[in-house]
Amino acid sequence: MINETMKELGNKRSVIRDIFEFGNIRRAQIGAENVFDFSLGNPNVPAPADVNNAIRKLLDTQSDSYLHGYTSAQGDANTRAAVAADLNARFGTSFRKENLYMTCGAAASLKIVLTALYTPGDEVIAITPFFPEYQVFVETTGARLVKVSSDPATFQIDFDALEAALSPATKSVIVNSPNNPSGVVYTRETVEKLAAVLKAHEEKTGHPVYLIADEPYRELVYDGIEVPYLPNFYQDTIVCYSYSKSLSLPGERIGYILVPDCIADSADIYAAVCGAGRALGYVCAPSLMQHVIETCTGQVSDLAVYKENRDLIYNGLTELGFTCIHPDGAFYLFMKSPVEDAGEFCEKAKEFDLLLVPADSFGTPGFVRISYCVSTDMIRRSMPALEKLAACYF
Ligand code: PLP
Repeated sequence: MINETMKELGNKRSVIRDIFEFGNIRRAQIGAENVFDFSLGNPNVPAPADVNNAIRKLLDTQSDSYLHGYTSAQGDANTRAAVAADLNARFGTSFRKENLYMTCGAAASLKIVLTALYTPGDEVIAITPFFPEYQVFVETTGARLVKVSSDPATFQIDFDALEAALSPATKSVIVNSPNNPSGVVYTRETVEKLAAVLKAHEEKTGHPVYLIADEPYRELVYDGIEVPYLPNFYQDTIVCYSYSKSLSLPGERIGYILVPDCIADSADIYAAVCGAGRALGYVCAPSLMQHVIETCTGQVSDLAVYKENRDLIYNGLTELGFTCIHPDGAFYLFMKSPVEDAGEFCEKAKEFDLLLVPADSFGTPGFVRISYCVSTDMIRRSMPALEKLAACYF
């Protein structure tokens, strides 16, 4: 006897995994330098030097029990105080360490918050395109995921669609800006409108509607673009953060949940977060990394490489005739497939050893995600292959 839902989930092949495996075969056959792999969101820019220096210093100066022992379930008090101080300095807030719960990255942050909030029958809205794991995280709580589309021209929120989707069962809305996979950053106008719509819905239904801000790409923006800080715009905001991308530490599994004092039922929600962390076995995020974060919070990996890559790939593809959404943040470029079926287009791309991801699983058929967290040299070398691909359509 086993849990069939979990078995199905484990056996389900993800599109990205299939592409990755195809890439491995081709790398072995023709050499890694001839495969142009734009499929994964694994940062290629190293962590800031201070991160590795902090690890060395900790190893040289601290005891094993401090480095590798359990911290408190919700995270080391000094780490949480440092994160709160950094947020307060950057966003003019007044968070305390008691508002923070350290996690194993954004995936854990989301799963804990969703488990803390939902009971079967609840509805949660996510704006397409979205990180495909939302579906898994939401549905395994028994809640229902309601998909709301973005404006197809700008990939800002389509407010008519959002208002139509809000119901008395809506308990929260998940947003992700800068967005994976579109690279779009929600403007101040979008955020203000979102806050007004959710506030009106709270007043209408008489219960809180939590805005869950999934923010692993918050600091990854180019050309000085503003990323409005959602807790400053909408009172009932819970933040799910990760250092996977901002500090290039995806394998270290470190992030946090922020439950501000001002949200409705804040103390109960924080208690439920602690309870969900416990129920999911997610207590005590990696201790060594928590100590690193204590000294490195607020730092960001060098964004110059991503910006150069962004410009190269965006300019290259648009000059070839492809329609692309201009990415202001994250390290993904969203491109319209020249044929209706993006899967078919990505299969064609494979003929030129170009590994691109169809965006169907992100809730946006007809689009393709191109991850540009790769070497700039690979982007340059991929141009002849992209030209050949373009020649098949234009
Ligand atoms: N949310 C989004 C939008 C992501 O793109 C990712 C990872 O790519 C995650 C959450 C999960 O991040 P983490 O590696 O910190 O668990």
